[in-house]
Amino acid sequence: MALPSTNSNKQQISYDHGLSDTPLLGMTISEALWKTVQKYPDAEALVVPYQNYRLSYRELWDEATKVAKGIMAFGIKKGDRVGIWSPNRYEWVLVQFATAQTGAILVNINPAYKSAELEYALRQSEVRMLIMSRGFRKTNYVDILHEVRPSLIHLKHIVVMENDWQNLLDGGKKISDEQHAEAGHDMQFDEPINIQYTSGTTGFPKGATLSHHNILNNGFFIGERLNYTEKDRVCIPVPLYHCFGMVLANLACITHGSCMVFTGEAFEPASVMQTVQDEKCTSLYGVPLMFIAELSHPDFHKYDFSSLRTGIMAGASCPESTMRAVREKMNMTEVGICYGMTETSPVSTQTFIDDNEHRRCATVGKVHPHLEIKIIDPDTNKIVPRGQAGELCTRGYSVMLKYWNNPEATASVIDDSRWMHTGDLAEMDEDGYVKIVGRIKDLIIRGGENISPFEIEEFLHNHDDVNDIQVIGVPDDKYGEAVMAWVVLKDGATVSPAELEAYCRGQIATFKIPKYWKFVNEFPTTVTGKVRKVEMREISAKELNLHYRQ
Ligand code: AMP
Repeated sequence: MALPSTNSNKQQISYDHGLSDTPLLGMTISEALWKTVQKYPDAEALVVPYQNYRLSYRELWDEATKVAKGIMAFGIKKGDRVGIWSPNRYEWVLVQFATAQTGAILVNINPAYKSAELEYALRQSEVRMLIMSRGFRKTNYVDILHEVRPSLIHLKHIVVMENDWQNLLDGGKKISDEQHAEAGHDMQFDEPINIQYTSGTTGFPKGATLSHHNILNNGFFIGERLNYTEKDRVCIPVPLYHCFGMVLANLACITHGSCMVFTGEAFEPASVMQTVQDEKCTSLYGVPLMFIAELSHPDFHKYDFSSLRTGIMAGASCPESTMRAVREKMNMTEVGICYGMTETSPVSTQTFIDDNEHRRCATVGKVHPHLEIKIIDPDTNKIVPRGQAGELCTRGYSVMLKYWNNPEATASVIDDSRWMHTGDLAEMDEDGYVKIVGRIKDLIIRGGENISPFEIEEFLHNHDDVNDIQVIGVPDDKYGEAVMAWVVLKDGATVSPAELEAYCRGQIATFKIPKYWKFVNEFPTTVTGKVRKVEMREISAKELNLHYRQ
């Protein structure tokens, strides 16, 4: 008689669930902040050296309360959308916690947006109040807003930080403590509190709508995995408008009594290193490009990194060599990698601070507590065996409520069983460690062969003269697509395309060796530091006069 087939005699499947003794936080963001204020009232909470601004946790609560009352004085209520359009400034942080106190939904606007994108985001989420800075870099925000204002019928109130901040605070004086407390009591943790337009690298922006429960818990468990305490000081060069700033940094800090330390309105490697040294930061964040820029800065050796212990590299594939350099040269012995996307609050997997070198450098860690992940064949939706690549899906508290006002787009990424389909290709090993091996959209298909650009990038990162590399697919008459590499060489290196080809030959499959090479000083990126491969493809196709076959 044949035994019935059970999981134990089947091959292990690529599914994992994050067990934890630590319960989820069943509270609003405002309640979580209040708990920390009670516990560590005098601990430093927020440091913004370039604005000469420092607050303890008690002061952070008080200042956020003033802003909350100011917002309420404009008649803004729970569920109303309040936009924020500004680079990293202390006002951004106060508005984040002020909206969390009132229940207004904060709409993050990318500081790099120009008129069409701004108009789209403000209109799509029907923003009623916009808090903005005067401008960023060469862009004058006030002029841009003026241009699009006539079409924004929902936008009633505008606060320009540099001009109107004191008026905002003064206006709030007419709101009583009771009215403010009432707004707090009226909230539920499952209600939406934030809308984030997903990154420009993934096509037309959609407003990922996130609840208190989504992002508060994600921030909390990120901080737990890094062992954050009230002694930690987190250096934050990543932008606040993205989850990397407002969740991985801010919410991880406020759930542990750690200090948020900002480095500048925009990323600049020297000021990051200076801030780490001056503020004795214990943790440093960045996308890989930021760490690469710091490590290759001519003054790198002049800075003192001895206070650093940990940090996060995330947002894009993290080259093993960069991870190693960060550990060895920046004293970040407990640095971790996070993987996730805005739609999942964002983090789904993270390494542990005591993982071995291979796991910490070459994987994105294991599933987060209370979440489930699986890897499926995108064509059949069936879970693949461990070790086989497929699309990574996430389920649990972190999956966004929806895309704002966009049920079709929501239904195209969240299935009936509440799995979020990420579009990322991953593999899970026997112990549940996950490796991101590419993106479904990012595949290069050359003559029927699927090529993961990530794999070629990883390989060429090991070349002594290569500082950074990005691989894209460009049109090709014969094969449909050809492989192209954009390379940033190390200072003083003069390697030629022929030498790089020779280096690849015999090491990686011939069809993966780039046909075209382009040497550049930097890549086009989004504000978050994500490389814009779409733009690179357009530039190269034009320069090389290549066209896709009709
Ligand atoms: P965003 O929604 O802007 O956070 O972008 C999310 C996307 O960034 C993911 O779907 C991945 O493609 C990519 N990503 C994030 N973290 C990592 C990582 N650690 N390794 C590789 N790709 C990553």
